[in-house]
Amino acid sequence: MLKREKPIVSIARNDDIIIAVNSALDQLKLPDLNGKNVLLKPNVGREDDPYLGINTNPEVVIAIFNYLKQKFKARFLIGDSPIINTDTRKAFEQSGYNNLLNDDDIQFIDLDDKPPIELDIPNGKILKKIKVTGYWNDIDSIISIPVLKMHMHCGASLSFKNLKGLIYKRKKVTLHHLQAPEVISQLKDSIRKIKELDIAIADLAHIFHPDLIVIDASYAQEGMGPSSGNPVKLDTIIASTDYLAADIIALALTQPEWSLEDVPHLKLISDMILNAPKSHEDILTIPENIQEFIRPLEPPPSSISIKYKNVNLIDIDSCSACLSTIFNLLKNNKDFIDKHFTPENPLNLAIGKGIKQSDIYDETFLIGNCTYEQRENGTFIKGCTPVESTILEIIKNNLNKK
Ligand code: SF4
Repeated sequence: MLKREKPIVSIARNDDIIIAVNSALDQLKLPDLNGKNVLLKPNVGREDDPYLGINTNPEVVIAIFNYLKQKFKARFLIGDSPIINTDTRKAFEQSGYNNLLNDDDIQFIDLDDKPPIELDIPNGKILKKIKVTGYWNDIDSIISIPVLKMHMHCGASLSFKNLKGLIYKRKKVTLHHLQAPEVISQLKDSIRKIKELDIAIADLAHIFHPDLIVIDASYAQEGMGPSSGNPVKLDTIIASTDYLAADIIALALTQPEWSLEDVPHLKLISDMILNAPKSHEDILTIPENIQEFIRPLEPPPSSISIKYKNVNLIDIDSCSACLSTIFNLLKNNKDFIDKHFTPENPLNLAIGKGIKQSDIYDETFLIGNCTYEQRENGTFIKGCTPVESTILEIIKNNLNKK
C-alpha cells in the first residue's frame, strides 16, 4: 500500500510582513494558476479598521497578490460575503483595501451581487444542499487568506471556516439554526463540544477545496473572537496547499494544549478524509522545529459571564452578527452596565433561534428577530441584527420604568 506523503506547511515570521509572506510562499510547491480565474478570499466580514485581528490584514493580501501575479498569468479576483447588514465594499474600504480595489490587475467582486447557485452535498451529514455565491462557476481556484482568530462558537476561525464566506448572503445564518439531535448524539461521545453548526461547516468540505492557504497571523485575535477579542501582533504567516494541515499548525502554534476536538469542525473533517492529518506530528513543517513560533493565545471564554460577571447571556443558535453586536454593546457601555447591574441582579440577554421559554429568566431582553417566538416572555427587541444604540436605549428605558 502506498504511504501518503505528509502535507507541508511553511511558517515565516518577520516584522516586515511582506518578507514573511514571500518567505512562506517560497518554501511551497504552488499549484499551477496559469490561465485560471483565481479568487483571493480574505476574511473581510465586518466594517472594521485594519490591524485589529478582525479582518485579514490588507498588507498580507497585497503581498500574496504581488507574489502570485509575478509567477502566474491568471485573472485575479478578490471578494467576500460579510455578516448580515454589512456592505461588502465598505467593509473592504474600512479594512484598508483601497489600493487593491483600485488596482486594474485584480477585480473586486461582492460575492453576493449575483443570484446564487445551489450545490448538492449528497454525503453531507446534515447539510444536503447549499446556496453559494453566483460567481461559483467563474472561479477555478480559491486562495483562502483568513486572519487567525479565536471564535466563541467554533473554537477558532482559520482557513476552512473562512470559506463560509462563499455561502450566499443570509444562507450562512441557516447553518446556525439546523437541528439534528440524532446526529449530535452519535458524535457527542467522540467530540464533546459538538454542535450542529460544526457539522454543517464540516459538510462544506465535500464541496469547498481551496488550492492554497495563507493564514494571516500578523495580528491574530485572542479571547472573545470573532470580533471582540484582543489583537496580538505575531508577525507570522502560515502557508500550505493543504487547508487542514495549515489549520492544525495554526492551532499548534497558538493553542498548543488543544486537541482537534477543541475545534470540532476540523476534527470532523480530519475523520472524514482518508489519511488526513490528526495532529502536527502528521505534518511536515518548514522549518521542522516550530518551537520558536509557539505563542499561546488566550482561548475564547466558554461563557460571556466569565468576563462580565454582571451579564447573563443566553446564546442558543445565534449567528455571529448578533453575537458581535452584543459583544460591542458590552464593551462600549461597560461603565453604564457596571453602574446598573450586579452579579446578583445581572443584565439578562438572550439571542438565537434556539431560545425556549425554559431558558429565559425574569426580565430578559430578547434580542433579534430569532427570539420573536418568545416575545411574550421578556422585552423583545426586533431587528436582524438590532443596532447597538437601539438595544441600549430600550435597556435604559426599562430601567427608567422601575
Ligand atoms: S436575529 Fe440575530 S441571530 Fe438571528 S439571524 Fe438575525 S443576526 Fe442572526
